[in-house]
Order: sequence, then C-alpha cells, then structure tokens
Amino acid sequence: MKVIIFSTHGFEKEFLVSANQQQHELFFAEVNLSEQTVNLAKGFDAVSVFVNDNASAIIVEELNRLGVKYIVLRSAGFNHVDYKRAKALGMRVARVPAYSPYAVAEHAVTLMLALNRNIIRAHNRIMDLNFSLDGLTGFDMRGKTAGIIGTGKIGAITTEILTGFGCRLLLYDIEENENLKNKINVQYTSLQDLFKEADIISLHCPLNEKTKYLINNDSIKLMKDKVMLINTSRGGLVNTKDVIIALKTGKIGYFGMDVYEEEEHLFFADHSEDILQDETIARLLTFRNVLITGHQAFLTKEALNNIAVTTINNINCFQEKKLCSTEL
Ligand code: NAD
Repeated sequence: MKVIIFSTHGFEKEFLVSANQQQHELFFAEVNLSEQTVNLAKGFDAVSVFVNDNASAIIVEELNRLGVKYIVLRSAGFNHVDYKRAKALGMRVARVPAYSPYAVAEHAVTLMLALNRNIIRAHNRIMDLNFSLDGLTGFDMRGKTAGIIGTGKIGAITTEILTGFGCRLLLYDIEENENLKNKINVQYTSLQDLFKEADIISLHCPLNEKTKYLINNDSIKLMKDKVMLINTSRGGLVNTKDVIIALKTGKIGYFGMDVYEEEEHLFFADHSEDILQDETIARLLTFRNVLITGHQAFLTKEALNNIAVTTINNINCFQEKKLCSTEL
C-alpha cells in the first residue's frame, strides 16, 4: 500500500521504517496535513496523521476526492480527525489507543522531582561554577499528600510510583478504579477535598466540556499555599492565565507543564529563530518555579516502537480487509 506520513518527526522515522519491514511504500512528509498540503495525498491509498494535523470534515472530504481510502492516526487522541465524516464517505480510520502509560506517568513524576529539588537551577548554577546551595532547598516526598485527578491507565501508574515514595494518595475520578481502592495510603475523595488537602496535584483526565479549565481561580483558591501543580494531560484542563496570577502571589509554589492550551502554534517545531509572540508562555518562562516540556511525556523508545508497530498493523489490517480492533 502507498502511505503518506504527514508531520513526520525525526524521532519517529526509524521506528516506522523498522516496523514496516518494507511491506508498504512509505512517503515521509514533514509538513502538517492542512488545506494547503492535502493535495500531497494524491495517489496514496492511506494517510497517517499526528496530533497537530488537521483532518477536519473539509480535509477528509478532499482526501476522499483524491482517492485516499484509509486514515491511520499515530496517536490515541482523535479530536483532530472527523472520523464520522470519513466513515460516512466509506473510508476506514484507526488509531493507537495506548502506547506507553508508563512513559507519561514517569514524566509527570520527573517534573515533580525536578521542580522539588531545583534540578534545572542547580545545573545552571554549576555551569557557572556557582556551587552555593542557597535557594535550592527541596522537600521529602515521603509523607506528602499527592492528589491524582483521573485514575485511568496513566493516573493509576502515577499513583503506584508515588506510593513507592511513601506519599499519601488522594484520588478523584468519575469512575473509581477498583484495583487502586484497597491499596495502603490510597483513598478516593471528592474533588474539593483533593484540592484542599494535596501538596502535589497531578492531572490525568481527558479534556472535554466537563474538564475544560478544571484548574481556574476558584479551584486554585481551595488549594494549599505553595501547592505543586503538574499537567501532562491536556493544556485546556488549566486556565494558564489564572495559574500565572497564582504563581505571582506564591499560591502555586511549583508548576510543571508538558501540555499547553495554545500548544499547536508552538510545540513540535523549532522556533529558536522566531520572535516569541505568545505572551502567556513568555510570562511563564520568567518564573524559576515553572518547568515546561513540549508535549514529550510520551517520548520513550518503547512508546515510539508501540506507535509504529500498531500503525503498521492497522495498515496491514486495512490492506487485508480484516477487522481492526483499533478502528474508530
Ligand atoms: P484513560 O482513559 O485510561 O484515563 C482517563 C481517566 O480520566 C479515566 O479513568 C476517566 O474515568 C477519567 N475521567 C474522565 N472524566 C473525568 C472527570 N471529569 N474528572 C476526573 N476524571 C475523569 O486515559 P490515559 O491513557 O490515562 O490518559 C490520560 C490523559 O493523558 C489523556 O486524556 C491524554 O490527554 C493524556 N496523554 C498525554 C500524553 C503526553 O505525551 N503528554 C500522552 C498520552 C496521553
């Protein structure tokens, strides 16, 4: 099958080539799928898209007109793909439902520890031969209360890791995870109580109309002074402007973010030659107690391999006209 891979990143190409084992003709395009680039798909049977590609109805219709029959997502999330329109046109769409919840959970904990122990600041100081320890004091994780919002695959692993540190875990989810209920030092509670009691809050629920801006002025007011907030889930869960206000007053003591509500304009690309236009990110970069990574929580060898293998399996299924368990 001829497949065009939109938004190919350097970090994933070798995994896709290896998983493919020369079965399909893969064409790697670095550009995003958009109204301007959709014509590149002419002559291909399938397109593969990543999180910031645009496969809205109008693009899907154009893909169909160009003869594309299949869309394979290299992501779990599918809010950027109008799969209902695609299916109505007779196209088949599949995704990668889970690639490595460990990667994301471990990254959330990495942000916690790096913020707590001032790792970036310490490293920068030592690069300047400044070996003073003043201002680098952290806290023991043992005995602290961590609040986990969303206890699905990633939230559950984050819970397990933090239990290992000796934290007390407060959990909130609209559906409680039975496997976590009987663990020592782990307890489900209300969202309000979690906000009030947690020293560290980590977000692991999806973004939808109920969770949009879950972290806002009102919820922040309930939190402990100097709380640590970690978001590796979706940027829209957090009202970033409200977080900035709370960082300025010291109410939020630490903020670790891997996702950002306006990330599609910035993330996954090198803007080092550009003049930064995003005032919110510009302000966040001025705080020493803010740590930002650019949607890299998933970025481990294991996750990239799983994404590549599932993507090629999806293409195989479509080629062989088989049922596909990851089909939308
Ligand atoms: P999951 O579906 O296994 O778990 C999500 C949990 O959130 C479920 O238990 C669900 O009941 C719960 N939930 C739904 N609505 C809620 C609400 N209103 N309040 C509280 N909990 C609610 O998903 P997962 O695989 O654990 O992924 C969690 C999130 O991580 C995803 O939504 C995704 O946005 C994000 N993610 C980020 C990266 C990254 O690289 N940063 C990678 C993968 C996933």
